Amino acid sequence: MIRRRNVKIIATLGPASSSPEMIRSLYDAGADVFRLNMSHLNHDGLRRVHAMIRAVEKDVDRPIGILADLQGPKLRVGEMEGGSALLEAGQRFRLDLDTTTPGTVTRAPLPHPEIFAAIKDGQSLLLDDGKIRLRVLKSGEDFAETEVVVGGRLSNRKGVNVPEAVLPVAALTAKDRADFEAALELGVDWVALSFIQRPEDIAEARKIARGRAAILAKIEKPQALVHLDEIVDMADALMVARGDLGVELPIEQVPGWQKRITRASRRAGKPVVIATQMLESMISSPVPTRAEVSDVATAVFEGADAIMLSAESAAGQYPIEAVRMMNSVAVEVEADPTYPGIMYAQRNEPEATGADAISAAAHMVADTLKAAAIVCWTNSGSTGLRAARERPLFPILALTPIPTTARRLALVWGLHCVLTEDAKDLDDMAERACGIAFREGYAQPGQRIIVTAGLPLGTPGATNMLRVAFVGRMGSSAD
Ligand code: PGA
Ligand code: MN
Repeated sequence: MIRRRNVKIIATLGPASSSPEMIRSLYDAGADVFRLNMSHLNHDGLRRVHAMIRAVEKDVDRPIGILADLQGPKLRVGEMEGGSALLEAGQRFRLDLDTTTPGTVTRAPLPHPEIFAAIKDGQSLLLDDGKIRLRVLKSGEDFAETEVVVGGRLSNRKGVNVPEAVLPVAALTAKDRADFEAALELGVDWVALSFIQRPEDIAEARKIARGRAAILAKIEKPQALVHLDEIVDMADALMVARGDLGVELPIEQVPGWQKRITRASRRAGKPVVIATQMLESMISSPVPTRAEVSDVATAVFEGADAIMLSAESAAGQYPIEAVRMMNSVAVEVEADPTYPGIMYAQRNEPEATGADAISAAAHMVADTLKAAAIVCWTNSGSTGLRAARERPLFPILALTPIPTTARRLALVWGLHCVLTEDAKDLDDMAERACGIAFREGYAQPGQRIIVTAGLPLGTPGATNMLRVAFVGRMGSSAD
């Protein structure tokens, strides 16, 4: 199946979509990658949904990416007496480590000593996705006295954010480590890390993954923004996780950071995902708001690699319609006459490497010759990533003998990945590229394609070859 767009779509699976039929329908509607949220899945569930996706992948005969999203160190208050209490602005409220006594209107258990160790007077504690705001008046090893700045009803086990403090918590909890191993055992393609604060958090995950999965860093803490460049360097991909980021930062700063994270990622040639509330109203309505359509369009104009659906596809009433809507907005934006200008405003110069020089040259030659497609042979996927970094407005086919590479690249802007055996020699490489471009519907007899590769084949990072090939009858190479 041909997708007529460059930006990719990630659909989160959940109760509304975890059946073989739904996964197939979401794929048909345009989902390229499926996200499994480990906050809501046990290992049995993970195994089951993973198997369903791989079965659909086999049926459609196209590589599909699977992203396991680890919960991370999500902080929560303890139990409340009667389930909840109503906090009012101006009142005092105490938090402490006593989990044996349920919370009341004047105090609540907060079973995280690391918060009390890190928090300073005057800093904020946000409860329930930032709906309730507390200011710390005084704190010690095991308590914090606060004033309620914005009140609201606090119920059992609501989430806590401490945006101004750097918590000495590891980005991977014991649950994360167990989930990580389960995901690696199954062979998921991407593992997403939640609430990372430092580049070291990614290094630690990489040690666990040992190459078995690529690492996506979710940017959802202000501390991660301080180290953004190093994090972009260390990660294999980034996510602008606007849900938590919009709680930890003043919400009006999120759009600017979305642009900065997207630009930094594009500059580094790392895939970047824009996530959360993209079509939020479609959880319960078959049509989105104008503002949501505009938000999806903005991400596409910015040249993001992927746009993501969360509750819309996981728990909403209209999962398929939401994917279809994202797909049509993306197709429409990319066909708009203003798209190239806006997207290329953030064009990145090639770096001084063979892969970048060849990718830039392929783009230019394709432009001059009005070629039908750029076809790159890639093993590790890095040549595919550098080809996509060019953001050429030509179809890019990434040919690889390695299923993992094809699946990981499903997340990347513009890449249509095809699994094929390694080519025998240069002629075979051109011949096979022509055949596949024709068979996949990207080139017609008489058209030219641009083929890039590294010789000798299979040497990582050695892209050094560009060839113009004519597509002959029935897709044979005619040069
Ligand atoms: P989540 O991450 O959906 O796992 O919270 C995304 C976000 O915070 O935007
Ligand atoms: Mn989050």
